[in-house]
Parts: sequence; structure tokens; C-alpha cells
Amino acid sequence: MLGDWSSHDELARLQGDRLADLLAQAGRSPFYRDRLAATEIPRDRDGLAALPLTTKQDLRAAYPFGLLAVPRSELATYHESSGTAGNPTASYYTETDWIDLAERFARKWVPMTAGDLFLVRTPYALMITGHLAHAAARRCGATVVPGDNRSLAMPYSRVVRVLHDLGVSLTWSMPTETLLWAAAARASGWRPGTDFPALRALYVGGEPLSDARRVRISELWGVPVVQEYGSTETGSLAGECEHGRMHLWADRAIFEVYHPDTGQVTVDGVGQLVVTPLFREAMPLLRYNLEDNVEVCLDDCPCGWALPTVRVLGRAAFGYRVGNATITQDRLENLVFSLPADHGVLFWRARADASLLRVEIEVADATRAAACSELAELIRTGYDAPCEITGVPPGTLVPTHVLTDLQDVIKPRSLFGPDEDWSKGLLYY
Ligand code: AMP
Ligand code: MG
Ligand code: ZN
Repeated sequence: MLGDWSSHDELARLQGDRLADLLAQAGRSPFYRDRLAATEIPRDRDGLAALPLTTKQDLRAAYPFGLLAVPRSELATYHESSGTAGNPTASYYTETDWIDLAERFARKWVPMTAGDLFLVRTPYALMITGHLAHAAARRCGATVVPGDNRSLAMPYSRVVRVLHDLGVSLTWSMPTETLLWAAAARASGWRPGTDFPALRALYVGGEPLSDARRVRISELWGVPVVQEYGSTETGSLAGECEHGRMHLWADRAIFEVYHPDTGQVTVDGVGQLVVTPLFREAMPLLRYNLEDNVEVCLDDCPCGWALPTVRVLGRAAFGYRVGNATITQDRLENLVFSLPADHGVLFWRARADASLLRVEIEVADATRAAACSELAELIRTGYDAPCEITGVPPGTLVPTHVLTDLQDVIKPRSLFGPDEDWSKGLLYY
């Protein structure tokens, strides 16, 4: 049992009880001091709902410390969100904030324990993800292997070596990473499903994951895939119960669904997720619009948690027109990973032109013809759209050297011997 989240009333009471402190803390930041001065201070949930949304643009405009509600000396970490061109989106946390952050990440139905060896394979630079998993695992007593996924020091060959030789039992990465590991494992002569017996679960998040791809990853490695949803500005927002549904952590934040077309806000349905974290010292957020397209649902789940469930649709909410059909990433991915596992298709890409959907799949000679014709059939049945499927040899979409290269981790130096390569002296990376 992860926690007692069985009562809607209890959650609502908890949220209500936090409101006064939350608003007082928010008022300590320059941004909310100004904003709250212009409105009536909310006294309850209805009052909160009358406040304007905080947008990503607000955060960018407040860069770097416009949302800071504590003295600078109390900050423990500073982060920036991924993929923000132009002005960055800054987030910062105190030591106390970090207790809440780490606790939320640690809510896993396959939990981290002192006996676990945990590979963190998400970025440590600027973003929160690597540090979040790292801190949560340390709290649980697990042994952390800090792997990053943007570091030259940790190419795929080293990842599979570590997974295999150390007996890594849990991992944290984007779903796509686990497919790359599978390919890299094979390139090293190992079989993902049998040669990694210590592995217990794969924690994944950070990008959309269709049902079929999730099932394929789970079959490949022979362990559960445990998904979570979060962001650098908020930390973990939702995690899975054992029934495979993601629940919003409504005991730690208030969630709303915003409908940009009408400006309305609801507690469930399809729209943009708006979050008001309940426990934040350094950077309080009131009604922050994450601009993620989600579907929030209040139906009962067999797990008994009264926490709403969420599906992250992301761009899947939109799509590209091809002929009369609208092609979405989620549905197309589901079709690709509906191919029989024996065909061995792990990597694909597609381009949606107005009159033709072009799909490339990486597939070995032996199964190429079958895989292509079966996928064409799946797409014809699933969509009323003209498509062209091309089977390309393994190594085309994901170059083999990416899976096998072993880079040396070296340090800068200036003095070399007569037979040494001095081209990597100062630019050592
Ligand atoms: P960042 O702000 O760089 O930390 O990235 C967070 C963003 O990644 C979220 O706002 C979502 O758009 C996306 N994301 C995180 N987890 C998931 C998930 N499980 N499914 C789909 N998208 C996700
Ligand atoms: Mg973001
Ligand atoms: Zn559940």
C-alpha cells in the first residue's frame, strides 16, 4: 500500500486546509505579490478558481527569480525546463521542497528498496528529472548508478554493460531509451529478456507512450513498465497503481482541466492540465497551466484510490491530415507495435504528407517483406489513408555505432609525448 488515498472528502479537506498557507507563501514572491494585490485574496477553492491562470509565458517573463518566495540562500537547486527556446523557464526548490519532490517520485507500485541497484538514465544538466529520481532512490536506500542520457561518458555500450554486469534491478528513463538498450544489448550479444535476471521494473516517463509500445517494452525485457508523468516546474504529478492507470497526486496538488476554446475550467475531461502544488516554499505556483493536453477521469479504479486518473495525450490530441484521415502519433505507434514481436521492429519514423503517409521501419532481411505488408494492412484497416511502407535494414534509423561505440572519458591536458595524438588536448570531449 502506497498511501491512504481512499476518500474524496479527505482529499478535498486536505486541499482546503493548505490554501491559506499556500497563498501567504505565494504572496512572498514578486510575481504573486503584484498579482494578488490586484485581486481579492481567495478564501476557498472557489476563490482560487477566480484567480487568473499562471502561464508558461508568465514564468518566462519572470526569469530568473521573479517567482522566488524565500531568501536566495535557502535554495537547494535551480533548474530549467527542456525545450524552451528563447527565455528559459526557471524552477527552484528548497531542501524542504525536496522532501515533497522525492516522496512523490518514490510512489511506485514496484517500490525502490535498499536492495535495489537503480540506473538513472535521464539528464542531470539543468532539468530536474535525473536529480529527482536520484534523490528519491537515495531516500529509499537504493544504490544509485547515475547514468544520465546526454553525457558522452555514458554511451549505450556502457549502459548495457552496467545493466548486465552490476545486476541493475530498476531503471528510470524515457520509454524510447529502453528500446535503444534492447538493441544495444543484442549488439553486445545479450538477450534483453533472459540475460538481465536482476531487472525488476522499468520506470519511464517524459514522452508519450502508447499501449502497444508499452506492452512490447514489457515483453522485451520481461518486467513491468511503470509510467509516471511530471515536469521540471512541478516534479512528479502522477504515477501508476498496479492496475496500470496513472493517478494524479491530488494529496499534493490541486488539479484542474482548462479548455482553451471556451476559457472554461472543469475537474475532469479533455483539456490542458492546470496545477496548484500544495507544498512549495521556493517557488509557489497558483493555477499553473502546463499546457499539456490530458484527459482527467474521476471514475473509480480497482485500486481504490480516490485520486483522479490521467492520460497524457500530448500532441496525440492533434494530428496530421493525410487524405481523409487524421494521423496521430499515439494511434500510429499502436499500429507499428501491433506487429508480431518476432518481426523485431523497434524503430520507425513517419512523414505525413497531405496525400501520402510514408512510414519507415527498421527490420531485418528475413522478416522485411512480411513486416511491411502486415503494417500496410494494419494501417489500411486503421485509417482511410494512402500509405507507403518502407523496410530499411537495421542500422539505418539508429546507426549501429551509436549502440556499440565505446568512448573514452578523458581529461584536458596540454603536454603530449612524441607518439601521442595531441588533437584532443584542450577540447578533450
Ligand atoms: P520538462 O518540463 O522538460 O521537465 O518536461 C516535462 C514535459 O514532458 C511534460 O510537461 C509533458 O509534456 C512531458 N511528459 C512528461 N511525462 C510524460 C508522460 N508520462 N507522458 C507524456 N508526456 C510526458
Ligand atoms: Mg516543460
Ligand atoms: Zn488505480
